[in-house]
Amino acid sequence: MADAVRTTCAYCGVGCGISATVTGDRAVEIAGDPDHPANRGKLCSKGTHLGETVGLEGRLLHPMIGNKRASWDKALDLVAKRFKEVIARHGPGSVAFYVSGQLLTEDYYVSNKLMKGFIGTANIDTNSRLCMSSAVAGHMRAFGEDIVPATYDDLDAADLIVLVGSNTAWCHPIVYQRIRARCDAGAKLVVIDPRRTETAEEADLHLAVRPGSDVALMNGLLQHCREAGVVDDTYLAAHVAVPANFWDQLGEGSDLWSVARTCEVPAADLRRFYELFAATPRTVTMFSQGINQSTSGTDQVNAILNLHLATGRIGKAGAAPFSITGQPNAMGGREVGGLASTLAAHMDFAPENCARVQRFWAAPAIAEKPGLKAVDMFRAIGEGRIKALWVMATNPAVSMPDANRVRAALAACPFVVVSDVIEKTDTGAFAHVRLPAAAWGEKDGTVTNSDRMVSRQRALFPLPGEAMPDWWIVKEVARRMGWKNAFAYDRAADIWREHCRLSTYDNDGVRLFALSGAAQGGNAAYDDMVPFRWGSAHPFADGRFSTNDGRARLVPVVQKDLPEPLAKWPLTLNTGRYRDQWHSMTRTGLAPKLARHREEPLVEVHLDDAARLGLADGGLARVETPQGGSIYRVELSVGQRPGELFVPIHWTDRTSRGGRTGLLSRPLVDPVSGQPGFKRTPASIAAVAPEWRGFLLLAHELDAPPKCLWATRVAVPSGTLWELAGNCDIKSIEALLPRGERIEAQDNARGTRRVAVVAGSRLAAALFITESGELPPRDWLIAQLSAPEVAPTLLAGRAPGVQTDRGPVICVCFDIGLKTIAAAIRDQQLADVAAIGAAIGAGTNCGSCRPALARILAEETSDAA
Ligand code: SF4
Repeated sequence: MADAVRTTCAYCGVGCGISATVTGDRAVEIAGDPDHPANRGKLCSKGTHLGETVGLEGRLLHPMIGNKRASWDKALDLVAKRFKEVIARHGPGSVAFYVSGQLLTEDYYVSNKLMKGFIGTANIDTNSRLCMSSAVAGHMRAFGEDIVPATYDDLDAADLIVLVGSNTAWCHPIVYQRIRARCDAGAKLVVIDPRRTETAEEADLHLAVRPGSDVALMNGLLQHCREAGVVDDTYLAAHVAVPANFWDQLGEGSDLWSVARTCEVPAADLRRFYELFAATPRTVTMFSQGINQSTSGTDQVNAILNLHLATGRIGKAGAAPFSITGQPNAMGGREVGGLASTLAAHMDFAPENCARVQRFWAAPAIAEKPGLKAVDMFRAIGEGRIKALWVMATNPAVSMPDANRVRAALAACPFVVVSDVIEKTDTGAFAHVRLPAAAWGEKDGTVTNSDRMVSRQRALFPLPGEAMPDWWIVKEVARRMGWKNAFAYDRAADIWREHCRLSTYDNDGVRLFALSGAAQGGNAAYDDMVPFRWGSAHPFADGRFSTNDGRARLVPVVQKDLPEPLAKWPLTLNTGRYRDQWHSMTRTGLAPKLARHREEPLVEVHLDDAARLGLADGGLARVETPQGGSIYRVELSVGQRPGELFVPIHWTDRTSRGGRTGLLSRPLVDPVSGQPGFKRTPASIAAVAPEWRGFLLLAHELDAPPKCLWATRVAVPSGTLWELAGNCDIKSIEALLPRGERIEAQDNARGTRRVAVVAGSRLAAALFITESGELPPRDWLIAQLSAPEVAPTLLAGRAPGVQTDRGPVICVCFDIGLKTIAAAIRDQQLADVAAIGAAIGAGTNCGSCRPALARILAEETSDAA
């Protein structure tokens, strides 16, 4: 067996270290790296199951021009030629790159250098625009530089942790486990979120605020702190610039009762929060997409930063505002300047910065102003102003707001290049050239996590097919465009050293981002790099900020009026993630275990709304917005605020028919950051009554979802499962069954049809359709795909004899269902989550299901009482 390789998780911004041991051809054992400071050996369910996602199924392994395989030379020559032609004819502003927080820092650096220093425009933006650009803009307004002034260690030192707009238990599970450990030791947890998430359920206090009311909440808190004498006047006088009318403006409408009304929370709860915050100097306020993905996102960020600056709760252990990022290398992208609104190495477009970067790169041209941010970029493509686009490692046809309009823009764009790991993506369908990129486990480079820790990602496998690292692809195009010397990189380490040198170049200490010393080592030092943090644990410990005068800024922010619901769109749609899925599921969708937590896209609806609108739990419903409509299965929830809906972002046209979310959100953005306001789209919902429901189980993949009203794909062991509903003739679905011996049953009275196809002695496919009856549980049938022989009860959908139903899977690591857990709690009188783990193992591996176990425990014990 090979030695373990220290690398970093492919998914979220927690940036967990992984110890990976290659066990065979495209096989790897994954464990948490006990020496990595971000996770100390722990991994959540996504990281734990990374090994299930490293196969080559669905990979793009060769360059493609149109639908024809091409050589690298031919494909790269064509990309370089077309970009040069468009630039020569229409100017540098007529081309654009749309890149990704999945890229490594070295990939990002080369892309940014090519666009901003050589093509000469800042039309490079990243999908990080969609998740944390408001935090970037807020940091720059308050601190003069995009600095996250906290580390995970601050959570260990805090007495109060406030989570704002963050379902941390699902989206950053390892950080959440750290928060829980601190709370178990006595710290208090307050969660501010319109939804009662698993994170909120475990909080000491949950404020289910009205979406978009965070500025009022935070301004009210700052006003309370001022009245309580908690504002640190000495700190302000020494380190912070306060606008003349700041406090007068803050006072307007910031009394407790007005804020409670605006936020629609009980005044008593609000008072409790305010008093707790005022009384607890060691407070960390951690915020995420619920703050950032708003048309007031930057103001919301600054409302939080104002609070910490005014109370002097920054630059000290256990006291900080803390923006936590979604993607694994969103921070690395920020460091190289991968956003259209920044230049490079934490510099903006001030003339002296442009001159400095141009000098360093010996660049023929330098972008002198910000480029088009994501939403504007795709608008410009649709309007014909951008004529050549290169999309790297992201899927904007799924993830951008108003995604159908983005698709129309891509279809109209004269030249689209997509470099990606996956062969068939919704965006790749619009590409003129597709370039095969190396995947996680195949490439070398660095990533920076949410607490400024730089870690290595290391290759575990040889490059498959003709796949190449992104930095190599970009530099080859740059060289073919005529800039051979400036892009003469032989390895990722060359790029890393140049990136480090730029960070310290002509840097007299005003820019805190400086990778001092990191550029010194050779290739061996790069290979051996251990995780390190730039900027120290508390970059503002000395009270000096990155502004010209060294002072931070309090930024006056005002709560915007929140519109009343419209008659046609009476509900508010919120979007977000599931615990065990990642983005458009190109990787997590390969892992059957990760599908078990949430198998389908659900629309969560409050019980009162459901009763009023005639929606049944488990039924289908169409969510409509002015941008489009999608169908989901209904989940009734007391965790939703009445009048609000929640849907997941993950499903695409490859994995569903009719269940895509990106097309629903409106393309309205924050005026400062350009980040879309995904969390608040006017919407309506209505029940959908299909003529039939069913499922199709296959031992093979389909090229496209079945053509019916609604379909959703679930990864299962040895095959795929499609949940279906439709109004069409089921013959079109039956036509998807493979050849083989057929076993059929039909009940015309109930409108039920069941067909199994056997090839050799094994089950190859099964189709179960019903117009009025029940459908059997899927687990036993799924297991028949890998059974050595066909069971006689196949069309009954169950094993011979009596069976126990274990219920939906809660612990995906050990495949333990809800009913099994509930029975163990009752029968063995288990009193806490640890006891459940000791008794049946649930929650003892990655720990991602522990909040769910706590909820089941609470329900069971309250039932018993
Ligand atoms: S919390 Fe989970 S998904 Fe995020 S980096 Fe750690 S293991 Fe990966």
